[in-house]
This record gives sequence, structure tokens and C-alpha cells, in this order.
Amino acid sequence: EEPKRNLLHWFRKGLRLHDNPSLREALDGASSFRCVYILDPHGDVSQFGINRWRFLLQCLEDLDSSLRKLNSRLYVVRGQPEDVFPKLFKRKLYTDERMNERTDGRTEEGTNERTDERRDKRTDARTNEGIMNFTAQYSQETRTANAEQTYFAIRGGKVQRVDAESAVEAESVGSSKPHFAAKLRICPPRHAEASRNPRHDAEIISENDGTPPLTFKRFQSVLSRLDPPAKPEDRITLDTICQCKTPTLLAHDDKYGIPSLDDLGFDTSGLSSNVFRGGESEALQRLQGHLQRKAWVASYEKSKMTSQSLFPSQTTLSPYLSFGCISPRLFYWKLHELYRKIKKQNDPPLSLHGQLLWREFFFTAATNNPSFDKMEGNAICIQVPWDKNPEALANWAEGKTGFPWIDAIMVQLREVGWVHHLGRHAIACFLTRGDLWISWEEGFKVFDELLMDADWSVNAGMWLWLSCSSFFQQFLNCYCPVGFGKQADPTGDFIRHYLPVLKAFPAQYIYEPWNAPESVQVAAKCIVGKDYPVPMVNHAEASKLCMKRMKQVYQMLLKMRAKVQLPKQIAYK
Ligand code: FAD
Repeated sequence: EEPKRNLLHWFRKGLRLHDNPSLREALDGASSFRCVYILDPHGDVSQFGINRWRFLLQCLEDLDSSLRKLNSRLYVVRGQPEDVFPKLFKRKLYTDERMNERTDGRTEEGTNERTDERRDKRTDARTNEGIMNFTAQYSQETRTANAEQTYFAIRGGKVQRVDAESAVEAESVGSSKPHFAAKLRICPPRHAEASRNPRHDAEIISENDGTPPLTFKRFQSVLSRLDPPAKPEDRITLDTICQCKTPTLLAHDDKYGIPSLDDLGFDTSGLSSNVFRGGESEALQRLQGHLQRKAWVASYEKSKMTSQSLFPSQTTLSPYLSFGCISPRLFYWKLHELYRKIKKQNDPPLSLHGQLLWREFFFTAATNNPSFDKMEGNAICIQVPWDKNPEALANWAEGKTGFPWIDAIMVQLREVGWVHHLGRHAIACFLTRGDLWISWEEGFKVFDELLMDADWSVNAGMWLWLSCSSFFQQFLNCYCPVGFGKQADPTGDFIRHYLPVLKAFPAQYIYEPWNAPESVQVAAKCIVGKDYPVPMVNHAEASKLCMKRMKQVYQMLLKMRAKVQLPKQIAYK
């Protein structure tokens, strides 16, 4: 007889119940089900800024509340997976659950177990000594090789991090110890990927002769030869889990509750109000709201930037996509249906569909390139001899460059954790090829900490792009930290919002306060050099020098290519 299969589902980067193929598949035939989220201090969260943490905790709260509707709960555990799982597998959960059972015959609120079922559970706990099945969602664990995935295997009762290939082999590793046997159920890569990408990287790469397409045109041409993405799967409901018990603890919140920012030791006193509430529910609502704005979706065009678009005004779905609160397949197909109805829309890359394709483009480009976020060892990165200038880097990161447009965007990044796409362009260009000539790797790290939507591949890919280190090579154009801002927001209200010290400056001078006559500075109660920094560079001179240096790099690259016939995207050393 098949042993009972008690399912422990490990949520990682697919924090949702809709379109969750790995969970759905694992539920099939399971007799009980529990969901775990691990807050691993050495994992992804180690470099999260406070906004990203807040967003994550809200995602977990939302997930917990959805699981309550299934009479279950989310078990949040702090620690490293290697340590956490053996403890959970040693039936600690079960022991705790039994100890917490009430003696008065009533069950805990939100539990769907009746008394007889609770009795069953004791038996269950014994039979469970056979096999506990464990499903993990292997989507997008960052900073590791192999398409951002870390695989965990259980060997000799120990959970270990392994690479993708050996994880496959680990599938057969199983019930070696009689009383502690955990069989690793490998979630097929296609399921893992579904939570982050509409299509499969491997298919795209194989269609492109084994390498990721490195231009968007090529990427589109490869996609045109592939099937469209699979349709999203239905939401997990009470019906889906009807055969499963969903044991919970009376002391759940004490033992496995979601910590607050204060519990985690954050100083929340200066925290700005929450523009984005994390979680699947909010993500679905937002998507629905956008889809009702049919004309807006139809005429969506990325390159437009108005004063309004400096505040969240696109779909702002990126943090939700990044944490997997919303399925990109759902987004893709909802857009598809809408386009079919309205029959008119811009084509990619400008359309909203196109934005999702960009996301996929970078995921694919980063596949099998563990150095995608670095210069060293990154075959598609041009080796630009950037300067090291920690002081200038700190001024940029803290919004103290003396250019109000750049500083306001940096403050928005720090306070809100989200910046409009072209705002990101402005600050990235300023740091790298535009003014400061500092490596894109430094900018990547700052974004990685502060952006709520930070995605390893997209973030690194865009920095490679913006710094002319890969993908894009029109280095003779760079953004002016004054003119670009004036164009986007002629009134300067964006600056006033994020840099209150400049709020009394008239529009005429707000982008260049250093040019304001002393009387204007006195009237505005802001003296440049005292209350607000003087610009750290002369933009005209700095950008000219940067362009000259970039031109030299590319000339050298061309010479190298001519000699050794390097493929177009391969860097020289
Ligand atoms: P919308 O315009 O509404 O687009 C819908 C979705 O498409 C987005 O949510 C996002 O998932 C995707 N998308 C849009 N533009 C891009 C793009 N250029 N590349 C890839 N996907 C895109 N985006 C991230 O999601 N994570 C990052 O870490 C990230 N880092 C960036 C770093 C730099 C230097 C730059 C210039 C851009 C970066 N972007 C990143 C891309 C882009 O700025 C954001 O995706 C976008 O601003 C998010 O806002 P939105 O959700 O309103 O986008």
C-alpha cells in the first residue's frame, strides 16, 4: 500500500495560490498539507532594504490569510533551510500539533478537522514515519548559478544545497532512514519557471542554437517560432485540497507567526507610508484595475514620461511579479484577451505585452551565466575601465549629488523602493557613462538593496545596458541631469516632493539651484553649499570626458574583434 504522503510545501518566490502548478501537482494524492516559508538570514533577504522587507512581510500575511480560508496556515520559520528542514522533518511539527490539541473536543478556529479526524492525525503521525513528501518551489533563488535557481536535496537525512544537475539525481534519494525519511520531490523546472516566466528559458535557448538571444529583435524572432505560453492554472481552493487534512497549531502565531519589522530589529520611525501593499490579493486587484483602463492599455507606450509618471503611474506590478504574487502567465493571457477585444495596440517592445517580454528577455539572457551581475567572468560584459571613487558613489547613493533631479530620484528609491523606468535610466546613466564613470556593479548593488522589485537578472541586465557594457552601444547619447528632468516635469513638483529643502525654489531655478541669484536662495531659505550641496561635477565637462573614454573602449573593442573575430557581444580583456 502506498504510504500516506504528508505534503510540506515550501513557498519561495511564487507567493500565490493562483497559477501555482508545483503546489497543485504536489497536492494530488497528499493526505495532509502544510505550507512553509523560510526567512533565511543568509539567503535572499540578507540584502533587503526596509521597503522590500515590508513588502515581503505583507505578501506573507496575505498568503497566510488565503491559507486560512483553506483552513490552513503559513508556517514561517527563521533559519537556514539546511537546519530548518531536518527539524521539521523530525516530526517536530507533528509533536507540537499533538501537544497543542485541545482536550475539550473543540478544534481551533480555522481548522477543518473534526474530532475523529484529529484522532486520525495521531495515527497519521505514526504512519508518517514512512515518508514525508516535500515540495519546494524552485523559482528564482538569486545569486546562484543556473538560471537563478538553488536546489536543495536531502542526503543521509541532511538538507544540502546542490546544483541543478545533482538535484535531479537527488530525486531518487529517499527513505534511507527508517524513522526520518524525507523524499525530495523535485518540482519540475517547467513548474518552477511558470512562477516567474511565461515560457521556458531552455526552449528559447535551444531554439536559438544553444545560446540566449542577446538582442530583443532576435528574441522576438525566436519566440515567434515557439508555442505561446501555457494558460495559467486555476486557483487552489478548498475543493482542490478536499482530501487533505490541514493541521494547524493552537499556538501557531507564537511559534510560526509572521514577524513584524520591529521584531526583525528595524527602526521603523522614518518609514514612509506604504505606496504598495504586498500580496497576491493586492496584485490581482491592481491587474484587474489596469485591465479596466482599456484605452490606457491599448495606447501604453513606455517612452512617454510626464510629471505624473514620475510617481507610480505605470502598472507598478513589478514588485508583485518579482515576489511571484502574480503569475506572469496570467498577466500575459489577460493582456492577450484584452488586445483581442480592442483590436488595436502598440506592438512590442513598446506595448505592455512588450514589457513582459523584456522581463523574459533578461531572464533568458542570464541563464547559465552566474556572473551576469559582475564584470569579471561575464562573457557578455564589455570590460570598461571604470574609476573607483567611494566618496562620489556615496553621494550618489545618498542623493547628495547637487543635481536636484538625480537626488530626488535617489530619495524616491530609498523612501518608496520604486522608481519610474526613465527615472532609473537617469540615475544609472549619471553614475556610469554619463557623469561619474563608476562601475555599474555598484549601482546594481544599491538597486538590489533598495528596489522592491529587484530581480537579479533584470536588474543586472538593465545596468549592463544602461552603462553600455552590453546589449546597447549608443554611448554618444547621454542623459542630461538638468534637461531630462525639465522635460519630464517642467514645474519641478517631483523635486519639491522628495527634496523639501528645495520646495520654495521657483521652477526657473529648481533644476539648477546653484545658478539662482543669492536673493532667490535667501528667499527660498536654501543656500547652495550650505543647505543643499553644490553639484559634484560640471555635467558638460564630465559627460564629454565620459563619452570620449567610452569611444576609446569601443574603438579598442572593434580592433580586437577585427583581429580575433570575437562574436559581437563577447567582451575583450
Ligand atoms: P510597467 O511599465 O507597467 O511594465 C509591466 C511589467 O513589465 C513590469 O512590472 C516589469 O515586470 C516588466 N518590465 C517593464 N519594463 C521592463 C524592462 N525594461 N525590463 C524588464 N522588465 C520590464 N525591473 C524589475 O522588475 N526589476 C529590476 O530589478 C529592475 N531593475 C532595473 C534597473 C535599471 C537600471 C533600469 C533602467 C530598469 C530596471 N527595471 C527593473 C525595469 C523597469 O524599470 C521596471 O520593470 C519598471 O519600471 C517597473 O514598473 P512597472 O511595473 O510600472 O512597469
